Amino acid sequence: MPKPYPPIVLASRNAKKSGEIRALLAPHGVQVKSVADFDSVPDVIEDGETFAENAAKKAVQTAQHLGLWAIGEDSGLRVDALDGAPGIYSARFSGSDATDESNNAKLIDALEGIPPEQRGAEYVCHVAVSDPEGIVWLSIEATCRGRITAEPRGKNGFGYDPYFEIREFHRTFGQLSPLAKRQLSHRARAFGRLIPRLLKVLPAVAD
Ligand code: IMP
Repeated sequence: MPKPYPPIVLASRNAKKSGEIRALLAPHGVQVKSVADFDSVPDVIEDGETFAENAAKKAVQTAQHLGLWAIGEDSGLRVDALDGAPGIYSARFSGSDATDESNNAKLIDALEGIPPEQRGAEYVCHVAVSDPEGIVWLSIEATCRGRITAEPRGKNGFGYDPYFEIREFHRTFGQLSPLAKRQLSHRARAFGRLIPRLLKVLPAVAD
């Protein structure tokens, strides 16, 4: 059977994030490879000033290095009461050796005493697609609004998910199922808009 699309490489070493992206792309017949499937792909320095710059850097550098189409995804949490922090620094909010636990501890400390109605926040996901020459064909951003709880709830997801409550459901992404997160999240929304366009720009390949 002919393979309709060339493989596309996901420029992320975050296993949980990659799992979510694979699940979003799986129904569309796109073969997703990981940078971890290749030897010695250099880490991309995330020194952009926006999610868009970082997503494009990840896509372009990975695509050029491997000579394959690549997806770069940069995401994070913007908290209203913290003027949008941690934003593009979400992964390393509590320092260069940050873990999800230390980031969450810093977030909850920073929001100490802030009442529930002022704990609004949004997740942001920016996704960029580069061809093997390093031309960015697609660049799409989406958000998902919620509220930061005082206590963690649930074990699903990753990162800030146990504290990120979707108001309409009175549940955090830690409590909601992976299927629900695949319908509602910033990543789901960005890929929902990306996928139809991706299927148009990827060249058809014979087996
Ligand atoms: P990146 O891998 O440089 O894009 O950093 C993304 C960081 O943003 C993660 O390490 C998390 O801290 C946070 N983040 C992004 N998306 C999510 C999500 O869906 N759930 C929880 N945290 C997220």
